[in-house]
Amino acid sequence: MRGAVMYAPGDVRLEDRPAPEIINPTDAVIKLAATCVCGSDLWDYRGINAVTQPTPMGHEYAGVVQEIGAEVSSVKPGQFVIGSFFASDGTCPNCRAGYESSCVHREFVGGCQAEAVRVPLADGTLVATPAQPGEGAIPSLLALSDVMGTGWWAAVAAEVTPGSVVAVVGDGAVGLCGVIAAREFGAGRIIVMSRHEPRQKLALEFGATDIVTERGDDGSAAIREMTEGVGADAVLECVGTPEAMQQALRSTRPGGNVGFVGVPHGVQVNGEELFYSHAGLRGGPAPVRRFLPDLIARVLDGRIDPGKVFDQTLPLAQVAEAYRAMDERRAIKVLLQP
Ligand SMILES: [Zn+2]
Repeated sequence: MRGAVMYAPGDVRLEDRPAPEIINPTDAVIKLAATCVCGSDLWDYRGINAVTQPTPMGHEYAGVVQEIGAEVSSVKPGQFVIGSFFASDGTCPNCRAGYESSCVHREFVGGCQAEAVRVPLADGTLVATPAQPGEGAIPSLLALSDVMGTGWWAAVAAEVTPGSVVAVVGDGAVGLCGVIAAREFGAGRIIVMSRHEPRQKLALEFGATDIVTERGDDGSAAIREMTEGVGADAVLECVGTPEAMQQALRSTRPGGNVGFVGVPHGVQVNGEELFYSHAGLRGGPAPVRRFLPDLIARVLDGRIDPGKVFDQTLPLAQVAEAYRAMDERRAIKVLLQP
């Protein structure tokens, strides 16, 4: 089986790897219909996260069940399934509370930039579509595995309500999916902070009402200016840098909420500033599994089309070019065809 392996920052190779097999009776093996490169893969690619050993890459997946372990009962071979980047049992207290990405038995599903992948805890993790989806729906179904699920979580965590004013910090695939979520939640105004024209266009297509190009304190000031001087009701922080978090907190009105879903790198929150901001702060790795049945239905109904964040499609063999294109911001997100 062919799969992508990162050897060092900037060095991703497609290699022959052992085909995944059932190890535990709760596993399933999926033949991937599509996979992709995540913004968070770029943290490794850019050397911001250490790459200490050759690492199979990719954590977003959708495809057909090839094989199941003896204890798997909720999916069967031949079904089209989507799952989260964290496998979860679906039965522990955290799963029952809707925080599957903190499942006490969670396992990271890595090595998805490949032809096939083993998914642990298949019963708790995978959700099957009602029928085989058409080719056209596959990019949007793949997007649910991470970016759309994460954008949705940002809107849930920030408590977006009908009519509310939402600001989105970050115009990557997750931020753009956050726009979709805010629109689905009935936000009255959706302000996206972006300086990149193709991303601004897609944001507007997804339902954004305003674009702010200023950054940092100028960006927060622009948001306050648009909101009677107080800030947005809900702010979606979809980057993970100190600047983005500060911008998000300073763009939130007293009583409003920040949903932060960008994996923090060096982010420090000032306790005193947080105290006096009166802002609520909730985030973390998205409990994608909680949202999958609802999001699958919205994709298949044609209500949402998050697959549009894939502005480039390449064969898996060109995975190295996919990383380069995203690193150089020539692509928002690249879909890979195994
Ligand atoms: Zn659990």
